[in-house]
Amino acid sequence: MLTVELDESRCAATGQCVLAAPDVFDQRDDDGVAVVLDDAPGRERHGAVRTAAAACPAAAIRLVES
Ligand code: SF4
Repeated sequence: MLTVELDESRCAATGQCVLAAPDVFDQRDDDGVAVVLDDAPGRERHGAVRTAAAACPAAAIRLVES
């Protein structure tokens, strides 16, 4: 299982995570900070989630394997 954690305090509201994995991430309307839509995405989304985490310039996305 892959769990997605987001450190909002680090997020720089750049949106790369949303571009990479729009089913898993969104951005708040008011300040652009990312939100996690699905913190335990299915296997079919793991590739996109890993791409999103790698693309985040603020290292705000942590993926926990269990
Ligand atoms: S890519 Fe990182 S910094 Fe940019 S919106 Fe997503 S979590 Fe925030």
